[in-house]
Amino acid sequence: SSSSSSTKIDTEISRLMSLIINSLYKTREIFLRELISNASDALDKIRFMALTDPSALSQNSKLSISIAADPESNTITITDTGVGMTREQLKQNLGTIAKSGTSEFLSKVENSKGGDDVNQIGQFGVGFYSVFLVADKVTVASKSNDDDDQYVWSSQAVDDFVIAKDPRGNTLGRGTQITLHLKEDAKEFLDEKALRDLVTKYSEFINFPIYLWSSREEEIIKEKETGEDGDEDDIVEENLEDDEEDKKEEDKEQVEKVTVFDWERINTQKPLWMRYAKEIEDEEYIEFYRAMTKEPSSTPLSWTHVKGEGDTEYRSIMYIPPKVDPNFFQNLAEKAHNVRLFVKRVFITDEFELFPKWLSFLKGIVDADDLPLNVSRETLQQHRALRTISKHLVKKALDMFQQLAKDDEEKYGQFFKEYGSALKYGAIESNTHRKKIAGLLRFSSSYDPTSPGVSLDSYISRMKGSQSSIFFLSGMSVEEIEQSPFLERLLARGYEVLYLTEPIDEMLIQNMPGYNGKLFANVAKGDLKFGDEDQEDALDQQQLDEEYESLQTWLKTTLAAEIDKVTLSKRLTTSPMAIVAADYGLTGHMERLMAAQGQ
Ligand code: ADP
Ligand code: MG
Repeated sequence: SSSSSSTKIDTEISRLMSLIINSLYKTREIFLRELISNASDALDKIRFMALTDPSALSQNSKLSISIAADPESNTITITDTGVGMTREQLKQNLGTIAKSGTSEFLSKVENSKGGDDVNQIGQFGVGFYSVFLVADKVTVASKSNDDDDQYVWSSQAVDDFVIAKDPRGNTLGRGTQITLHLKEDAKEFLDEKALRDLVTKYSEFINFPIYLWSSREEEIIKEKETGEDGDEDDIVEENLEDDEEDKKEEDKEQVEKVTVFDWERINTQKPLWMRYAKEIEDEEYIEFYRAMTKEPSSTPLSWTHVKGEGDTEYRSIMYIPPKVDPNFFQNLAEKAHNVRLFVKRVFITDEFELFPKWLSFLKGIVDADDLPLNVSRETLQQHRALRTISKHLVKKALDMFQQLAKDDEEKYGQFFKEYGSALKYGAIESNTHRKKIAGLLRFSSSYDPTSPGVSLDSYISRMKGSQSSIFFLSGMSVEEIEQSPFLERLLARGYEVLYLTEPIDEMLIQNMPGYNGKLFANVAKGDLKFGDEDQEDALDQQQLDEEYESLQTWLKTTLAAEIDKVTLSKRLTTSPMAIVAADYGLTGHMERLMAAQGQ
């Protein structure tokens, strides 16, 4: 039966489709990237299912993508042997339900001023609709393992689509075939060479064979007909004779060129992570990042390519994204989908946690050899091999940060601006790596108030011989701290003071009482020891006490409800008086933070 029904497309999707089909966006070729990416996802899915249920591949054990252009019918067809879609899935995935990213993408493109916003379509979960950049009619035939029949979805990017049982029957076995009926002005994509270049460009990081229906010239040697019997024997004899005889032979033959069509495998490279790091260009790493994150114009700050041997064999490429995800700190509890896990080249999942939360901003892939292929996603997290890999990679990541700090101060500054708070969380949380992370932290200080560029090591290297502590002062901003009366005396004596301006800094210091044998000392607390009291000009403490006794008593009685005690301070130079927190009390800064949080 060919009972077909037309179904309304979700209004947002419909808006998206008409926006795309009417778009004058010049980089229309990205439709191919999106289709290849979807085919690859569908192949990943069926291969993963086959790990636990080998019969999943019974319809077709070949996992591949094939692409063909047909100038006669003005179409491009892309076929995969992936999971396929049932009638219901066709309906849901291709139109009736808008993805969460749809409206975000719509407003991005609608407000764009000719930028490359359409290029980013894949990030918003609506990449499929990029087909309407080049096609005015699209049909999707699909056959899933779960369903008896093969169905065809077809749409002309207005507000409805049609789904019907495929009149051709089950031609696919399993998988999906998408046919694009090209717009009048998109015929350039039928050109074989242009299409080959495009497919080559977008298949580089796809882990399934991609074939292109290609023509090639072949020379065939046709023998001139002699009409005599016993030819074969003659040739053998003649071939055994000398050159002069060969010339005569050529006269008898005719070289003819014919065009042969065949499937040509386009991607033959190993996956990037399986290759030798030394033989990989930076550009390749960057392109891989772009393909993996679906962010075609972003460039990672740095990366590390690891080959783990010994305990657990694995390969990994980890990247530092150029910008911190704006939701990183809100979503610390959520799964990030940042790391793709493979087991022996088979994609398993991106829903697992490889890194501790504070390091979960890294993106990349891990390909493990020592995990069982049929490991379930549930038990994966507990697997010993994965835990070993995780530990190893945390070290490698810290090495990468250290290397970046050493090689490129400016880039490290960028990195720290984005991920400094994450590292501070790391220093608070990780007993194992606290010291190493502390070495990666940067602060503003009286030595360089303009940017957080002072490391604890550089602070210590400038410490005066007698100085026993790392002095710091907290506040909402560098300006506020610079107004602080506590600062004067230290600066006057030539001490450097760290300026802690981030809310997390107080927690950091509480969890990290010292660094490299030096304790942190809060300039705003209690009776500060400079370490050079002995050389201090001999102030006659007793004399001063006597001189100011009546003032002290008066202050203490007048402010009895407000203060603990009154002491004569050596900390101030120009301000007459300061209110300080007790040694074990909250600092004013901390009190304000807690008040802001309603505590
Ligand atoms: P995304 O790939 O980000 O999910 P798309 O708009 O590219 O968004 O695709 C929408 C959905 O359609 C996919 O999530 C998938 O479920 C389905 N789909 C698209 N192409 C295929 C395909 N070749 N095989 C199976 N399912 C597909
Ligand atoms: Mg997609």
